[in-house]
Amino acid sequence: MQDMVVGVDLGGTNIKAGAVSSGGEMLFRSRMSTDASAGPERVADRIGMAVRDCLEGVEGGRERTAGVGVGSPGPLDPATGVVWAAPNLPGWTNVPLRRMVQDRVGLPCEVENDANAASLAEQWMGAGRGAASLVLLTLGTGIGGGIVLGGKVWHGFGGVAGEIGHMSINPDGPRCNCGGRGCIEAYASAPAMVRRMREAIAGGRRTTLSGQGEGLSARAIHEAALAGDAAARENMRMTGFYLGVAICNIMNVLNPEVVVLSGGVAAAGEMLLRPIRETVEERTMEAVRRNVRICFAALGEDAGVIGAARAFVTRGAAQ
Ligand SMILES: [Zn+2]
Repeated sequence: MQDMVVGVDLGGTNIKAGAVSSGGEMLFRSRMSTDASAGPERVADRIGMAVRDCLEGVEGGRERTAGVGVGSPGPLDPATGVVWAAPNLPGWTNVPLRRMVQDRVGLPCEVENDANAASLAEQWMGAGRGAASLVLLTLGTGIGGGIVLGGKVWHGFGGVAGEIGHMSINPDGPRCNCGGRGCIEAYASAPAMVRRMREAIAGGRRTTLSGQGEGLSARAIHEAALAGDAAARENMRMTGFYLGVAICNIMNVLNPEVVVLSGGVAAAGEMLLRPIRETVEERTMEAVRRNVRICFAALGEDAGVIGAARAFVTRGAAQ
């Protein structure tokens, strides 16, 4: 009986893999370095090793496994499993990852964008469990996202839906690499928080963070805010406000049941969530926000693996 899928979370530093049961339970875990500098063929070899670890780590693993889902940095073509580009993986241009993994493990494979995989995991087993529709925002060095509608990832026409970081919240804002202006990424990512803090310090704002120099980080801003630093609190409040504006836009367009915040910046917790909720309360119609949950991701480190496995299962019907 095929009652499990191997999920793989491909990152720039580590490859995480897991044997995931049809009920979403992690039966076995494997983890190894990506060895990204050695190029795509080597990385695919490493993925093959991690998958075989999982097949051997569960009794009857190979017979029980329906296939392999890989969550990869993107953008990528979900239909063909070709990764168009992956900024953290040297030499990754038009890499036929699905075929490369299939050749190595002898099992059918699907490739999903990593943020999409995380959103699927949260919808299936995490913060959005039981909800049919969910939007996830990954908040870190950049801002990414994933959209799940009717229990499946919404890929869009060209396969690149969910680029939430490039939602403009200011048409006259700073120019972005995407060609747009005022993208939310320039306001609420970790580097954006740091830049705003530096500007405040340069403008003469008194703060305990003024001596931090290169050590200034989003985490340091959060810690200073918790300790009562007024400038740091203002920084957190504005970050939450900007995110709230973006989330209002998402809610107006999609009216999802759950909005999930994940990634390093989400560690700021309530300090971020409060201004987000206030902004949503102020700026959306009641019908748009009625019974909608805005919350943090629940699966932590496992989200990538669980979501990649789930992507393999849901893909057949999604295309
Ligand atoms: Zn942009």
